[in-house]
Amino acid sequence: MLAAYERATAALAKAQNVLVLTGAGISAASDVPTFRDAQTGLWAKYRAEDLATPEAFARDPNLVWQWYQWRRQLVREAQPNAGHYALASLAQAKAVSLVTQNVDDLHQRGGSPDVIAVHGALFDNHCLNGHAYQAETDGLESPPECAQCGALVRPGVVWFGESLPEHALQRADSAVRMAELALVVGTSSLVWPAAGFAESAAARGIPVIEVNPQATPFSPQATYHVRGLAEQVLPALIGTALESPTT
Ligand SMILES: [Zn+2]
Repeated sequence: MLAAYERATAALAKAQNVLVLTGAGISAASDVPTFRDAQTGLWAKYRAEDLATPEAFARDPNLVWQWYQWRRQLVREAQPNAGHYALASLAQAKAVSLVTQNVDDLHQRGGSPDVIAVHGALFDNHCLNGHAYQAETDGLESPPECAQCGALVRPGVVWFGESLPEHALQRADSAVRMAELALVVGTSSLVWPAAGFAESAAARGIPVIEVNPQATPFSPQATYHVRGLAEQVLPALIGTALESPTT
C-alpha cells in the first residue's frame, strides 16, 4: 500500500502536464451541502429534480431563483479546504487543467487560476437566450431581466435534461489528450462526463491516480488508488511530489 502511494507520488512529481478531475468529495470537508442536502427547512417539500429543470423555471421562476439564491448563500458561508489549496499549489508548479463537476466556487477561492466547470457555475448567470448577465444579483428575490433581450436571467448551472456547456467539454477533451497524468479526486466516477474523462485518460495509457475514500466503479482502471479524504490525501501527495528532486 505504501509502495503504491510512493509510486503515485513519484509519477506526479515527474508529470509536467496534469489533468485533475474533481467531484463532490473535495467540497464535502467545506460543508458544501450536496444538491440533495440542500433540501432542508423551507425547501424540504420540494425535490431537487423539481427545482433544477428548465420546466421548473418556466413554471415558477421566482421559486427556482430563490432556491438558488439560498444555495448561493450556503456556498458563500463555506470556505475552501486543504484539498482545494493543494490543487492550487500544484497549478503553480505544473501545467494543470482542472476539470470539475462541482458548481461551487471553492477551487477559484482556493487559488486555482483556471477552472473548467463542466456542470456550470452556481454564481454565474445568463438569460434564457444565453446572454451572460454580469450585474450583481445578491439579495434579489426574483430573477432580473436580460439587458440585451429582456428574457429572464437564470443561474449558470446545468439543469436536468440540459446538455453540458460545449466550450467546457471541448476544453476538458483537449486537456485529456494533452495530459501526462490524471488525478481523479472525490468523484464516484458514475456521473458522466467525469467517468468518460477518467476512462479516456486511462485508455491513453497515462498514469491515473484515484483519490477517494471508497473504491469506485472506475477503480479497476486506475493505475494507483489512494484511499482517503481529499483534504487529507492531496496536501500530502502534492506536497511530497513538489518537494521531490525530479520536479
Ligand atoms: Zn438575453
